[in-house]
Amino acid sequence: MNRPPLVVANWKMNHTATDAAAFAERLVPELVPSARALSTGRLEVAIAPAFPALERLGRALAGSGVRLAAQNVHESTAGAFTGEVSAAMLEDLDCRFVLIGHSERRALFGDLDARIAAKLDRVLASRLSPILCIGETLAEREADQLEHVLDRQLEAPIALLRSRIEAGAESPRPAIAIAYEPVWAIGTGRVATSEIAQQAHVAIRRRLEAGLAPAAGQQIRILYGGSVKPDNARSLLALPDVDGALVGGASLDPLQFASIVSTCRETRLEPC
Ligand code: PEP
Repeated sequence: MNRPPLVVANWKMNHTATDAAAFAERLVPELVPSARALSTGRLEVAIAPAFPALERLGRALAGSGVRLAAQNVHESTAGAFTGEVSAAMLEDLDCRFVLIGHSERRALFGDLDARIAAKLDRVLASRLSPILCIGETLAEREADQLEHVLDRQLEAPIALLRSRIEAGAESPRPAIAIAYEPVWAIGTGRVATSEIAQQAHVAIRRRLEAGLAPAAGQQIRILYGGSVKPDNARSLLALPDVDGALVGGASLDPLQFASIVSTCRETRLEPC
């Protein structure tokens, strides 16, 4: 199955535009061994800085093959939404990806399932590729609620994708990626075991295959996120249904992030 691996840095509210330019200067030489895979699209890498750093980072990364991602987007096209950013604004900065429904947005900023579906609807109609973040809290895992949480978080997105595919508005190979991020593993240093990650990824893929079509479900990339570090990346990225990583803390350091990218290339790609 051809699912080019994708590694995404989520800087959250860290790094100024100046920091971002310095980061790119350190990162790009470290990615030379991955340059061919990046330029041919066999491997994809993106960085989601805070909005003010997008333009500067984009300039600093020009020609490197590393793409820009945004951490959030508003569900309306334009208007009186003080402090918000539209899909068109992100497209204009050459953003390729946008995170939707990160657990911090869900927990702290009122991005509940209905709003997330509205954002997804907007993004699917744009040139941006959404990365939909889902995952259970510790209380939900301990209450054996994983399947229920996945059903709830995927119900509207799958319905939306299905109706777009049926209307011919979405390619049968949807551009969306899913990031499975168990909330208890985000920023805690507590990483999911290989067994937990693989089980959750398979459960997500089953829902995508059943709700869309087996071929479409097989094409969608499912990233793992939650305390991915250079020393645990290999075991996670070697799992058959883990198609890449969404990296928070470790992505703030160019050498750690480059190491995770290299591990992804070595683990997921055949040498060519
Ligand atoms: C994240 O914020 O998406 C994330 C996975 O963070 P961390 O890697 O720090 O757990």
